[in-house]
Amino acid sequence: MTKKIEVRNPRTGKFDYVIIPPPPRLLAQQCNRARRAQSRWQDLGVEGRIAAIQQWKQAILSRREQLTEALVNDTGRLSISILEIDSFVNSIDRWCGLAPELLQETAKNTSIPFISLQQTTVPYTLVGVISPWNFPLLLSMIDTIPALLAGCAVVVKPSEIAPRFVAPLLIALNEVPELRDVLIFVEGGGETGANLIDYVDLVCFTGSVATGREVAQAAARRFIPAYLELGGKDPAIVLESANIELATSAILWGAVVNTGQSCLSIERIYVAESIFEDFYHKLVAKAHRLQLAHPTVESGEIGPIIAERQAGIINDHLLEAVEKGAVIHCGGKVEDLGGGWWCRPTVLTNVNHSMKVMTEETFGPIMPVMSFATVEEAIYLANNSIYGLSAAVFAGTAAEALAIARQLKAGAISINDAALTALMHEGEKNAFNFSGMGASRMGAAALKRFTRKQAFLIKTNSTSDPWWFE
Ligand code: NAD
Repeated sequence: MTKKIEVRNPRTGKFDYVIIPPPPRLLAQQCNRARRAQSRWQDLGVEGRIAAIQQWKQAILSRREQLTEALVNDTGRLSISILEIDSFVNSIDRWCGLAPELLQETAKNTSIPFISLQQTTVPYTLVGVISPWNFPLLLSMIDTIPALLAGCAVVVKPSEIAPRFVAPLLIALNEVPELRDVLIFVEGGGETGANLIDYVDLVCFTGSVATGREVAQAAARRFIPAYLELGGKDPAIVLESANIELATSAILWGAVVNTGQSCLSIERIYVAESIFEDFYHKLVAKAHRLQLAHPTVESGEIGPIIAERQAGIINDHLLEAVEKGAVIHCGGKVEDLGGGWWCRPTVLTNVNHSMKVMTEETFGPIMPVMSFATVEEAIYLANNSIYGLSAAVFAGTAAEALAIARQLKAGAISINDAALTALMHEGEKNAFNFSGMGASRMGAAALKRFTRKQAFLIKTNSTSDPWWFE
């Protein structure tokens, strides 16, 4: 018997939902079922797969209300849940538009006149997707949709902290016979995630660095690829020439949207000495205007802290920073409101790299601001991190900002804006340092990584090759 997992509601603190992880034998059976069904799915061809996925999309849209309600119960926030659903639906359409060309077979002549080359792609049979709680729908689907279009079967293991959204997806899935055998959702926690790696041919993991390491090791033992999308501590650099009005608005959004619970949140802000005071005063004024989404989900912009353990981490980072001399200008504490954990947008100054709030992932609406004297110092500080997911640079001109951006060790850098990869998935990027490993999950590479290239080398004449023995 596997133990059921009780799921906490982030607004009430009550455990009002239960998931039951499959025993290992059942998980193996589910994976085998998907594996067996994969060849039929592949044989449908890309157009057939597009039709099935579009049908699923329509079935989901007809249950939009249930899906929204489930996501609100999972995460405690409304507007971001609506945004998640819209982004998911848009991503289906975007991938369906791109897939036929990306999967097209090519044929060409080669440097040897009597040998021609045909290239095709062969999907991995069974892909495992293990996802986190901060954008439950988006992050369980971001790899799933391109993998399905590539022709793979997929088993998804969403986070045990926000699993309610799966039920409406499953009801919609039941209406699409072609898809329901090759897209399996399994409920469960870390143990189920770890077990899943035993049965798949490729694993996509989104989560913490600590778990990412375990996933990488398990995948290496099985000799399967692991694509890891891990934590971040994204810096923003604001140069003297920057438009302060624009930079403060962009950074505030990039730092506190989804209550800062994004891998790509701005978590460290480095500002040129000469504009430091002006910058943080403006940031504080704008932060004050944001309200908690309490007592109702419609009340304000800042939702609750979704995972209880994260509330402890945010609190710990704030307490340690203050103990070491940081000054809090707004927000600054984790509050219990009606059983949920909340934190208002928080601006800190007098911070430095001896503090966790500047070096470890906080995952909350926390904006520590530090001044720099030279551009070299700003670049050094931004790169002085174990992470390297993304970053932002603000300057008077894009060219000035780009010159700095080129020196940063991060996969995606927003110029005169912040956290753009939350909304724009077209640019290919790789994580630096411990923020991840493997091919880009964005841009065309995101779909291609679910296939292996296969080359057919075809002799086109019937004479002897000059290199043969005779
Ligand atoms: P987590 O590592 O605790 O869990 C992630 C998933 O892994 C969950 O589904 C969990 O059940 C599963 N899991 C736990 N132990 C496992 C094991 N041993 N083997 C296999 N699976 C296991 O992360 P979290 O707290 O859910 O998510 C927050 C983290 O995710 C943050 O660090 C955040 O930065 C990161 N994140 C990264 C990205 C990105 O694109 N780089 C996006 C979102 C979140």
